[in-house]
Amino acid sequence: MALIVKKFGGSSVANAERVMNVANIIIDDYKKGNDVVVVVSAQGDTTDDLIEKAKEINPEGASKREMDMLLSAGEQISIAILAMAIERLGYPVVSLLGWQAGFETDSNYSLARIKRVNPERLRAELSKKHIVIVAGFQGVNRYDDITTLGRGGSDTSAVAIAATLHADLCQIYTDVDGVYTADPRKVPNAQKMDEITYNEMLELATLGAQVLNNRSVEMAKKYNVELEVLSSLEKKPGTIVKEIVKMEKMLIRGVASDKNVSRISVVGLKDTPGVAFKLFNELAQAKVNVDIILQSVGRDGTKDISFTVSTEQYPLAIAAIEKLEGSLKYQKIVHDEKVAKVSIVGSGMESHPGVAAKMFEALFDAGINIQMISTSEIKISVLIDLADNDHAVTAIHDKFIG
Ligand code: ASP
Ligand code: MG
Repeated sequence: MALIVKKFGGSSVANAERVMNVANIIIDDYKKGNDVVVVVSAQGDTTDDLIEKAKEINPEGASKREMDMLLSAGEQISIAILAMAIERLGYPVVSLLGWQAGFETDSNYSLARIKRVNPERLRAELSKKHIVIVAGFQGVNRYDDITTLGRGGSDTSAVAIAATLHADLCQIYTDVDGVYTADPRKVPNAQKMDEITYNEMLELATLGAQVLNNRSVEMAKKYNVELEVLSSLEKKPGTIVKEIVKMEKMLIRGVASDKNVSRISVVGLKDTPGVAFKLFNELAQAKVNVDIILQSVGRDGTKDISFTVSTEQYPLAIAAIEKLEGSLKYQKIVHDEKVAKVSIVGSGMESHPGVAAKMFEALFDAGINIQMISTSEIKISVLIDLADNDHAVTAIHDKFIG
């Protein structure tokens, strides 16, 4: 007998037929004598639809507190519906909202962090042999207000329960059957991985491979919760995410791309100490998240600094730099929104020379120019023209994975 936490995403419970399918998956495990806690997201596009409703009332943007009150309703519907499906099939079940399941969060509405999960109620229900269905993505703060955990937050709810109850397994069901070496809709020969490490998954999650929410992977790593990403529609093993995986021939785990980036260059800065500090300090004050940074070697007393930001933050970044015009005395700002960041991720590259060269060769063979490069222990990213994105991903994937 094991304690299993199962999380089902919005697409897995989108309609009555899918809800009944999910109910059967849950009952299969329960019948074997396991304790089962289930976390669900809102059905289908419910969360997006609720956001639209709020915009109809206030296009300017409602307060975050009221947004959380509204969005948490999506999950309230799905837990009740799923519990009813299990009831109908004749099994004991109880649905719980975030606060009932013990989710205590901070007061950062719309992006709250879980402070603790009080396990009392969950344990009590499990000891009564109930299947427990918990609303994902929500909790309560110290003022007894409902909070939500940020988009995609139900994954984190599931991992938090698994960590708190020391579950044997945390399964994240979705509409794909695992984690792939590249987006299978774009790269037809992308392969499903049997296993991937937390660190690799974290890199892929932040790079926009939208299978798992990155906060949930961080938490799984911290509390050593083994995750399985699998399909709710096909019955077959998915991808396991854990600390150490079997060594495989594969040098890299995956190729990911992010089109939501913009490049900004500040040209003709003085080549003196403190320039980078002033520039990035101003950007930090404006709460701009900077990614790849490149500074040219000084020539004739001047230098250029280029960096990338997400496309939404790009106007904010430009405004921050313009504020510095008097004190930094640069010649001009050059910017480009039509760029993409393509990255390869893999623990294997830590101990293998030549991975970067191989990636650059793939781009060279494809006739693609590299604008910027950045590396970490298990990741290499290049910035390229947006128009080259799909071609680059395929070329790199072919080179490493075939
Ligand atoms: N329903 C929420 C969202 O769509 C939370 C989740 O799906 O994990 O972001
Ligand atoms: Mg969702």
